[in-house]
Amino acid sequence: MRIVDIREKTVPISRYADPAIAPASLTTSLIAVVSDVRGDDGPFTGYGFASVGRFAQGGMIRERFAPRLMAAAPDELIDVDGHAIDPGKAWSIMMQGEKPGGHGERCVAVGALDMALWDLAAKAREEPLHRVIAKKFGRSTDGGPIPVYAGGGYYYPDNDIDRLKEEVAHFADLGLDRVKIKIGSAAIADDIKRIEAVLAIVGSGKRLAVDAMNSYERSDASATSQAIEAFDLAWFEDICDPLDYETHKHIAEIYRPPISAGEALFSAVDARNLRLYGGLRPRHDVLTFDPAHCYGLPEYVRIIEDYETHGWSGRDFQPHGGHLYGLHVAAGLGLGGCECNPSSFQPFGGFGDGDVINGGMISPPKAPGIGFETRSALMGLIGKTVGS
Ligand code: MG
Repeated sequence: MRIVDIREKTVPISRYADPAIAPASLTTSLIAVVSDVRGDDGPFTGYGFASVGRFAQGGMIRERFAPRLMAAAPDELIDVDGHAIDPGKAWSIMMQGEKPGGHGERCVAVGALDMALWDLAAKAREEPLHRVIAKKFGRSTDGGPIPVYAGGGYYYPDNDIDRLKEEVAHFADLGLDRVKIKIGSAAIADDIKRIEAVLAIVGSGKRLAVDAMNSYERSDASATSQAIEAFDLAWFEDICDPLDYETHKHIAEIYRPPISAGEALFSAVDARNLRLYGGLRPRHDVLTFDPAHCYGLPEYVRIIEDYETHGWSGRDFQPHGGHLYGLHVAAGLGLGGCECNPSSFQPFGGFGDGDVINGGMISPPKAPGIGFETRSALMGLIGKTVGS
């Protein structure tokens, strides 16, 4: 198998299901890695995207990382059995000449390409990606249903509480009985109203997480943690600047329920620093690193293995993203679950069109690769942008 073409297209993406709400210029990179091996439906092609929330990385993908893959000799990329591209070898080719440090958002460019390479590798093996991941990284999974929770709950520009309640009720209709909503962009008293409105629907603090989107300084983080502690929420996420380990540590000392962090840290060394200096508590707090944002699966697995050798469990990880790829990663690596974005970040968010979530659990996908082909709206976008 050889790579014969790599296509990237920057596409708009919105946090809101309602197209009337401005998308605020957010984008992602959509990628196709085309091989020379043909199946019944044309050449095996791996699709990937730059997950959600960090903008497209088209310049770096088109000018730096994709050309390295295209310039590699076929035997530098092929797996030991000669059957498929080895994403691990491809990762090393992409990172040739890159210096340590300066992670910036090049990690997102590499992670997006890495996702497409895994999709291609799994399609070549005609297996769902989670099975390929489990074998490649020697992880044990039982193949059974895994926990998922609904991500969303962004602030609405008008009728915020009523629309938030509608959104959470919709999640419940979809079988998602645990939700995560945003706080931190309003006065604490207003955020408490959001929390109470959702608790009236989901019934328990254990079914509600709040995400401050890294917005608090230390004093606001302290005040909010005191204001919400009695709700005994599932977790308090992205409290402060992701590199402000001192504030993380302070909140972990004064706030008893779980906190979560990680989705805005993009390298194994940043993740290790969070472990060393952020005060997080193994088997209590939640780690949300996004495999597509932190240089892809090879680096993501390095992060997990570092934590596992220091008292943490893979079950403490729940990857950010809320899409099919995150579900495969969680299933294949035996993690504690993952996010699901059924309304936000369409057409990328959520799982296959016919997939059924029952009581907050879903079985791993069965389609070969990631299974983007099971999402008709996404395949429509792929057809118009990076499709052949
Ligand atoms: Mg978050």
